[in-house]
Amino acid sequence: MKLLEVRDLKVHFPIRQGLFSLVRQHVKAVDGVSLQVEAGETVGLVGESGCGKTTLGRAIIRLLEPTHGHIVFDGQDITHLEGEELRRKRRQFQMIFQDPYGSLNPRMTVGEIIGEAIDIHRLAASASARQERIEQLLKQVGLDPAHAMRYPHEFSGGQRQRIGIARALAVEPRLIVCDEPVSALDVSVQAQVINLLQDLQRQLGMAYLFVAHDLAVVEHISQRVLVMYLGRVVEGGPSKSLIRDPQHPYTQALISAVPEVDPASKKRRIILTGDVPSPIQPPSGCPFHPRCPVAVSRCSQEVPPLRETSPGHWTACHLVPALETPQS
Ligand code: SF4
Repeated sequence: MKLLEVRDLKVHFPIRQGLFSLVRQHVKAVDGVSLQVEAGETVGLVGESGCGKTTLGRAIIRLLEPTHGHIVFDGQDITHLEGEELRRKRRQFQMIFQDPYGSLNPRMTVGEIIGEAIDIHRLAASASARQERIEQLLKQVGLDPAHAMRYPHEFSGGQRQRIGIARALAVEPRLIVCDEPVSALDVSVQAQVINLLQDLQRQLGMAYLFVAHDLAVVEHISQRVLVMYLGRVVEGGPSKSLIRDPQHPYTQALISAVPEVDPASKKRRIILTGDVPSPIQPPSGCPFHPRCPVAVSRCSQEVPPLRETSPGHWTACHLVPALETPQS
């Protein structure tokens, strides 16, 4: 069942300049992204820092205002919801942040942080039901319920991320946007938090949009992966096939940079030259062409459309042939 559908979403930030603060240019952080997430599914969103994946995640849960396009959640267009209607809908989609410490109020106890989410959506009928729910959530994320009276600084980084997860779960969401939830944690703790997220999904059935730059983590947790470059999706498909058989030159370069567990593997590293171009003035044609090792002259003139290039696998590259549709 389709839970989330994003159609041609753009998030452009105006740059104001001059005496009268006139808008002269825009940062095109997200520039025409379409995607779908099924109920209970995990979709990974990867790309280098600055590719727009975090902005996209924030726009989807309406922390940022989209410039163009549509966000349809459970059949309802939520692109322009406001006020009480948005607050009520927001119960169904939550976010887990990269920096668990920065996203937790240091002056509130853990019980107050989780209780606040319960109060906003009036989810407990009495004080004792509220307390019971806080304790249940702490247990569910592997924390001691007796620690509800402690403050965020009394916990380790991994424990703080568990508090952030408990806060998100408090409102029983159907979708959680996980924004680089493990990238600030030690590698050993990363695995524990990923396993916890997977266990919770099995128990509670919510969907995840998992934003990360670490392809190994994304492959492990996601059924499908989308690769973003300069505000656009350049490749998407089932995670196993996309990681084993990447078709877009950018995805091939990203995957070639992931260290192999098997030292006998002879994977050739593709070194990308140059920096990611400015999203204020993206390159003409294919936005990847100034860095693409196999670019041809057409690449700087024509934007390659995202086409199905093998079953369920979509690629935006002039050199990857589209899947032939059977003649009727
Ligand atoms: Fe490279 Fe051209 Fe394909 Fe873009 S369209 S990825 S520049 S080959």
